[in-house]
Amino acid sequence: MHGVPVSGGIAIGHAHLVSHALLEVAHYVVPKALIPQEIKRFEQAVETVRQDLEHLRQQLPIGAPAELSSFLNTHLMILADRALSVVPIDIIQKELCNAEWALKQQMDDLVEQFEKIDDEYLRERKQDVVQVVERVIKVLLGHPSQVPVQQQESAIILVAHDLSPADAIQFKQHKFAAFITDVGGATSHTAILARSLSIPSIVALQRSRGLIRDGELIIVDGNQGVVVVNPDKDTLAEYRLRQDQWELEQQKLKRIKSTKAVTLDGTAIELHANIEVPEDVIKAKAAGATGVGLYRTEFLFMNRRDMPDEEEQYLAYRKVAETMKGMPVTIRTLDLGADKEMNPDTTVRSCTNPALGLRAIRLCLSEPLIFHTQLRAILRASHYGNIKILIPMLSNLSELRQSLQMIERAKISLRKQDLPFKEDIQIGGMIEVPAAALCAEAFAKELDFLSLGTNDLIQYTLAIDRTDDTVSHLYNPLHPAVLYLIETTIRACHRIDKTVSVCGEMAGDPRLTRLLLGFGLRQFSMHPAQMLAVKRQVLQSDLLKVSPAARKILGNQDIDKIEPLLEKLNLL
Ligand code: PEP
Ligand code: MG
Repeated sequence: MHGVPVSGGIAIGHAHLVSHALLEVAHYVVPKALIPQEIKRFEQAVETVRQDLEHLRQQLPIGAPAELSSFLNTHLMILADRALSVVPIDIIQKELCNAEWALKQQMDDLVEQFEKIDDEYLRERKQDVVQVVERVIKVLLGHPSQVPVQQQESAIILVAHDLSPADAIQFKQHKFAAFITDVGGATSHTAILARSLSIPSIVALQRSRGLIRDGELIIVDGNQGVVVVNPDKDTLAEYRLRQDQWELEQQKLKRIKSTKAVTLDGTAIELHANIEVPEDVIKAKAAGATGVGLYRTEFLFMNRRDMPDEEEQYLAYRKVAETMKGMPVTIRTLDLGADKEMNPDTTVRSCTNPALGLRAIRLCLSEPLIFHTQLRAILRASHYGNIKILIPMLSNLSELRQSLQMIERAKISLRKQDLPFKEDIQIGGMIEVPAAALCAEAFAKELDFLSLGTNDLIQYTLAIDRTDDTVSHLYNPLHPAVLYLIETTIRACHRIDKTVSVCGEMAGDPRLTRLLLGFGLRQFSMHPAQMLAVKRQVLQSDLLKVSPAARKILGNQDIDKIEPLLEKLNLL
């Protein structure tokens, strides 16, 4: 199967289908004569799940967390309750319908009742009911989970229809071998997170969930975007060899970890890291990053019902600043909205076209209390390190000025309380909207630095939803219009002596390093996993040769001519 590669490397492991069973339930009429058979099918499925859960409980490794066993007990109890083991049989008999449908009907009914419960804890137990029903439905549909609990996570390949950024951020606590999804684009936030996990990943495979079965052996080639299902002996041997070669290559790259990023002509280049959670700084430092160029703070707001308060945010930001020991830490204010939602029930507002709606700075300015809390937290943390503030998705100067006022207000409130912060904290803006790129100089004049968010800049310039696999083939960083906007922004900053960086995925693509260097870029920010490959490019580039070649590419409006010119540039 072929998809869009989002994170390199080769993984060989067993598939674990991330359940979507509830969406696949069909409704059909079962002839009266066959009803006893249908009931039997249902009872057998319930029994299979009971045995599976029982088996899992017995197989729990010594020292497994106590919650795991109580979780299995709860599920066994729910399964045994007549609401799930008997009522669906009544529905099958009364409605002459298939077992899956009857069970789903009953589950919807139960969930509705749970939602009326006042007690939050009990209300949340509906998730357990849903998970148990999903298990039974999976058995009825013929794809029960075969991944035993004691199997090493590191040998598991997650196969999902789609994963939200909120799902993906949870993977950071686990160690899977790879993940693949049917939908999604290469610069969706889910893909970006995959890249930060440094595990091979592929999106837009279209039908992997329908074709791959739980437990099947699969190969994920994240370099080529290829998935091989049930490989034969020779294919397996070939990929094991390629896996070894890839790992050897990664080891070799580690040798330049502490080498200074300087071009052949002696120009120093800053290579900063993008992080999502405070723990990521460890990887950033291990990769030799000289700063954090983008801290995506919105992940602190996901997978929870409440908002993190000022204290919690302050501690998280302070931890990053202290760990980076005086190196710059660029904290981006909340960029929620579009594909980055908090839990659906805590989301502030919904809109019809999320990517063009109340997102990022727009959302913050319409929710001043949330913004004020975050700004105070960032400012307080700035006392403990070299923190900078970065404002996402600016599209006009009025938003910028309002943001600056909000920062000033947060400073005043801290002064009143005698809370220390860095008075001259640097403030930057993200250039992600074409309108802002075209007026970059005006933004740069009122700010200390700019940072190009090329992921969104490409999305908005080419009118391509970065999360939509049906248009992902049109998402092209090399489109002449995109290159023009990037170079225009860099030039505007140089004109008035302001720093500019690129923190979108383009910065971490070694194929584009020379092109960006040629445009005058001296500061890159990327996921730590990409840093050494980019550094190798920097070390092998001579700006005297690269700059004129990049200019030649820029002068070209024919997209087909750009690829060969880029290849030439990379061979210089
Ligand atoms: C970007 O848009 O390029 C960027 C860095 O921000 P994000 O990917 O978080 O939208
Ligand atoms: Mg962005």
